[in-house]
Formats: sequence, structure tokens, C-alpha cells
Amino acid sequence: MDKIKMTTPIVEMDGDEMTRIIWSMIKEELILPFVDLNSEYYDLGLENRNATDDQVTVQSAEATKKYGVAVKCATITPNAARMTEYDLKQMWKSPNGTIRAILDGTVFRAPILVKGVTPFIPTWTKPITIARHAYGDVYKNTEMKAPAGSKAELCVTDAEGNETRSTIMEFKGDGIVQGMHNTDRSISSFARSCFNYALATKQDVWFSSKDTISKIYDHNFKDIFQDIYDNEYKEKFEEAGIEYFYTLIDDAVARVIRSNGGYIWACKNYDGDVMSDMVATAFGSLAMMTSVLVSPDGVYEYEAAHGTVQRHYYKHLKGEETSTNSVATIFAWSGALRKRGELDGNAELQNFADMLEKATIDTIESGIMTGDLYLISSLENKTKVNTQDFLKETGKRLASYMN
Ligand code: NAP
Ligand code: MG
Repeated sequence: MDKIKMTTPIVEMDGDEMTRIIWSMIKEELILPFVDLNSEYYDLGLENRNATDDQVTVQSAEATKKYGVAVKCATITPNAARMTEYDLKQMWKSPNGTIRAILDGTVFRAPILVKGVTPFIPTWTKPITIARHAYGDVYKNTEMKAPAGSKAELCVTDAEGNETRSTIMEFKGDGIVQGMHNTDRSISSFARSCFNYALATKQDVWFSSKDTISKIYDHNFKDIFQDIYDNEYKEKFEEAGIEYFYTLIDDAVARVIRSNGGYIWACKNYDGDVMSDMVATAFGSLAMMTSVLVSPDGVYEYEAAHGTVQRHYYKHLKGEETSTNSVATIFAWSGALRKRGELDGNAELQNFADMLEKATIDTIESGIMTGDLYLISSLENKTKVNTQDFLKETGKRLASYMN
């Protein structure tokens, strides 16, 4: 069989720990036998980030802007323990944060559904994609304690030095106060990312906030979404047969629970943080959650939603067998290759991505799965396999589909 050719590279961002082990296994078992892989490789493993003063992360993001598609392995975000473990020069920032700041994107997370793993909400027969705004609000806040007798004010000084003030609270007893912001630019790119992703995946968009209570702040989000929709997307949505609608966050929560899934739920930063964990858990497993960063100018970076699975890695280092779920990382690869295929008009590559996903799901639905799924699957004839054997089984299936 001739290997599938790629005309344009994808950006390949390697990572850390167990997911780094899985990364090379996926390439060896599932990608390289079928595809003449054209990738620009960046090693975002913590050792190399430290050696390059984290410049490798910046370079990988710049390359993603250039080529339009990246696939990323999970990476360690250093904390105090990692400083000693890896003898770091500095507590480097989260690579995802750095990449997101450069690409200015929105993160879309969607579960991978398989037979035998029933969502806790049984009516959820289609995936629910959460689009989380990844800038501002409480994540870039300023907060203080306000002692008894103090007065807290909000003051905005314009470019000419004019002040607009408003009293937040005159504290009789001790209290607390918090200031936060967002920008029209960031909200607009969030809206465009959501609408573009909806068109690309042919799904409705729901956006929710609390504009009845937050009549300026949340209302600004609502207005920006509506303006951009009306002026730039309405016709395209009608042509595609999809819808946009806005509703209050509490109403959205109630509708989501009653729904069958199959739409994009756009959430403000904090709502998205909370709701994505709720949705991931209710669908069954964090290891079955995909994640893609989409920039407003249409650049895509695919990854798994989980971390580096540190506990499994330490077992692996001790020579013990692991049964780590590689599905979300496989889907990061298939997502990136499919998008590359779409952008380049490469039908063979798109078909390969479809077959890779099908082989992965069919393997699980035939009863062969890793330990995390084995625990929750309702299939009667199921077998727990180790990390490598799952990939080998999937590879066999994929080879038969590709022939
Ligand atoms: P984690 O890697 O998501 O794993 C937490 C636990 O969830 C695991 O111990 C395991 O449970 C289960 N799990 C997650 N993914 C799994 C998989 N693919 N297969 C089987 N089980 C899976 O989170 P963490 O161990 O707390 O974090 C490790 C590192 O990941 C941290 O340094 C953090 O900075 C980084 N991180 C990176 C990203 C990213 O790059 N996007 C995201 C989150 C965290 P059991 O141990 O019970 O089997
Ligand atoms: Mg969270």
C-alpha cells in the first residue's frame, strides 16, 4: 500500500510523561504505517522548554499560525514540586496559556461517545461541545479585603483623564471586594470562533450569560454576539440549516439537561470552567474528551483534554504495566489530519482520519478497552488491555479498513 502524502506540514507539539510515551506509540502503530507524515516537530517536553527558556513554546505557536493546524501532546504546567523534579531555571508558564495568548482562540471541548459507556444523563445521545471563553473575568481579577468602615469605589479614568466613579459598597463590617474586566476585542473573537466552529461542524450555537443581573457587563457579551451574528453569520447559518440563540445561564442549564445534545454551548470563562467538568464527567470519562483551540482567523490546535497522567507514568518508569486510555490523544491526531486534509483538499487524508476514529471506536465497542473504560462499560464481553495492546488492536483494525 502506498502511504498517504501530505502537501503541507502540520505542527507537532510533543509533551510530557505518560502522554509522551503514548504519543510515540500512536505515531508508530497508527500514523506512520499509513501516512507519509509531514510535520514540523517541536519538543514541548518540560526539559526542552527549560533548555530553550520556553522559546520552543512560542516558536511552536508561531509555526501554528503559519501552517494553520497543530496537534499537541499534554504538557506539565510547572508548580513548586516540578521545580525540584526537573531542576527548572524558572517556573515556566502553562504552555496552553502561552499558545492561547499568541493564537487568541477559544477552546472547544467535546466528548467521544462509545456504546457501552452511557452518559449519566441517558437522553444525551449526541455530544455537547462546550466553547469556553479563555480570557478575562475572574481569571484576571483584582481583589482586596475591605475592612470595616472602608468605602469601595469603581473608577474608570479615560484617555483625557476624566474619571467616572461609582460606589460599590460602604462597609460597616469587614468585607471583600473584587474588580474584573473583559475587552470587546476578546469577546468579538470569542463570538467569531464559536460561529466559525458551528459552521465547520454544522451545529447550533447556544450562548448564555446573566444579563438580567449584570446589565452592563454580561449585556455587553450578549450584544456583541448578536451584532456579529446579525451582520456576519445570519445568512450563512440559514444556508447551513443551523441556529444561534441566546438564553440566560440558568435557563441554559435546565435546557442542557433536558436536551439530546448535538450543539455548541458557548460559555463565559468561569461558566465554561465549571460546566466543562460537569459535562465531561456526565459523559463518562475525562480520557474521552477532545479539545481544540480555534483562533478567530481559523487556525486549529488539537489536543486531549486530560493531563500527562502522572500517576501512570511513575508506574511505567518502575517497569509496571499501565492501561492508559489513548483515545483522546488519537482523536487529537485524527482531528488535525482531517483539518489538514480539508484545508489542502486532500480527500485521502480526510478518509484516513475517519478510518482512524472508526477503528478506535470499533475496538472499544468490540469489547477491547483500557482499565478506565473497563470499569464503567456495560458491555458483557469486555477485556481490559494495556496501553500498547489497545493501540496494536486498533492498528490491526485500521489496517483492514485501509486495505
Ligand atoms: P491528569 O493527567 O488529567 O490525570 C488525572 C487522573 O485522571 C489520572 O491519575 C487518571 O486516574 C485519570 N486519567 C486522566 N487521563 C487518563 C487517561 N488518558 N487514561 C486513564 N486515566 C486517565 O491530571 P494530573 O495527573 O493531575 O496532572 C498531571 C499533569 O498534567 C500536571 O503536571 C498538569 O500540569 C498537566 N496537565 C496538562 C494539561 C494539558 O496539557 N492540556 C491539562 C491538565 C493537566 P487514575 O490515576 O485514577 O487512573
Ligand atoms: Mg477547571
